[in-house]
Amino acid sequence: MKARFASTCPACNDAIKVGKEIVRNSEDKWVHKACSDVEDELP
Ligand SMILES: [Zn+2]
Repeated sequence: MKARFASTCPACNDAIKVGKEIVRNSEDKWVHKACSDVEDELP
C-alpha cells in the first residue's frame, strides 16, 4: 500500500515518505517495499 504518513523504515533506517509503497514485514512493521523480508506472492 502507499504510506499515508511519514515515518522511518526500521529495516534501512531511511525515511518513508508519504505516498511511498510500503509493506508489512514478518515482524509486523511497515517497511519500504524493497526492504520487506516477506516474499511477494507468486503469480
Ligand atoms: Zn527501507
